[in-house]
Amino acid sequence: MYLIKGTEVAEKVLEECKRDIAELAAQGRRPGLAVVLIGDDPASRAYVRSKDRKCRELGLHSVKLELPATTTQAELLDEIAKLNSDPVIHGILVQSPPPKHIDEAAIVRAIDPRKDVDGFHPVNVAKLALEDPTGFVPCTPLGCQRLLLEAGVETSGANVVVLGRSMIVGKPMALLLMAKGRGGDATVTVAHSRTKNLVEVTRRADIIIAAIGRPHFLKADMVREGVVVIDVGINRVDDPANDKGYKLVGDVAFDEVAPKCRAITPVPGGVGPMTIAMLMANTVKACRMIKGKAS
Ligand code: NDP
Repeated sequence: MYLIKGTEVAEKVLEECKRDIAELAAQGRRPGLAVVLIGDDPASRAYVRSKDRKCRELGLHSVKLELPATTTQAELLDEIAKLNSDPVIHGILVQSPPPKHIDEAAIVRAIDPRKDVDGFHPVNVAKLALEDPTGFVPCTPLGCQRLLLEAGVETSGANVVVLGRSMIVGKPMALLLMAKGRGGDATVTVAHSRTKNLVEVTRRADIIIAAIGRPHFLKADMVREGVVVIDVGINRVDDPANDKGYKLVGDVAFDEVAPKCRAITPVPGGVGPMTIAMLMANTVKACRMIKGKAS
C-alpha cells in the first residue's frame, strides 16, 4: 500500500507558486488575495488565519477582511464591489458558511469571475464543464486530481466512483475526472444519499473519491483489492485522549481499508494541505490572467 502524502505534494505545488511569484515580481507584479470573513465562527476564523499566513509565507499580498456577524447583504455586496475593482487584488474568497441572513449564492455571483479563485461562480462552473482552461476549478477537487497525478495513478479508462455530489467537491471532481486529457478520461459514477446498492457501486471502483462528511463511512467490505482511495472527509469525532477533546478523521475507515488499497490518502495530511496549496496556485493564475500592474 502506498500512502499518498498530501503534505509533500502541497509543498511541491507551493514551490511552483514561489517560482511563478518570483517571475511575476520581475515584471513588477504581485498576486493579491482577499479573504472575507463574516462573523466569528471559530473554525472559519482558523481557516482564514491559515490562508492569510500561507499568503504571507509565499510573499503574496494578503487582505483579511473581518466583518461583524451583523453585516447586511448590501454592505457585503458593497465590499465585494470594492475588491472587484481593486487592482492589487486578483483573488477574492468569501469564507463559508456566512451567517444565515446572507444569500451565499448571490455573493458568489457578485464576485468578478476573473477573481473567483474558489471556482464557485457560475461562469467558472460552466468553464469547467466546457473544459475551458481559462476558468478556475474549485481547490479541493483540483488538489485531489493533482494527488492522483503525483502518485502516478492512471485515470484514463479507470472506473472512478465519486462519493458525494456537492458543488464544492463531488460535482466538480466528477467533471475534472471525465474531462479529456491527463488526469481525466475516466468513467465516472457519482454516488449520493439516494444511490441504491452503494456497496455494489463502490466495489466496482478502481478509484474512489470519498467526500460525504460521514466519519469512517467507507469500510473494507465496500472496496475491492487494489483500489486507490482519496479521502476528502474532515470530520470531528470525540476523543477524550486528545487535549482538545476531539480528533479529525476522514470519510474512510482508514485502518481497515488501507491494507486493501494500492494507494490511499491519510487524514490529516492528505487532501487538506492540497486545498490551500491550490488556492495559492489559483491566485497566482488569476494574477497572470488579469492584465495590469499589481502592488
Ligand atoms: P456536503 O454535505 O455538501 O455533501 C455531502 C454529499 O455526500 C452529498 O452529496 C450527500 O448526498 C452525500 N452523502 C451524505 N451521506 C451519504 C450517504 N450515507 N451515502 C451516500 N452519499 C451520502 O459536503 P461537502 O462536499 O462540502 O464535504 C464533504 C466532506 O469533505 C466533509 O467531511 C467536509 O468537511 C470535507 N471537505 C474537506 C475539504 C478539504 O480541504 N479536505 C474541503 C471541503 C470539504 P445528497 O446530495 O443526496 O445529500
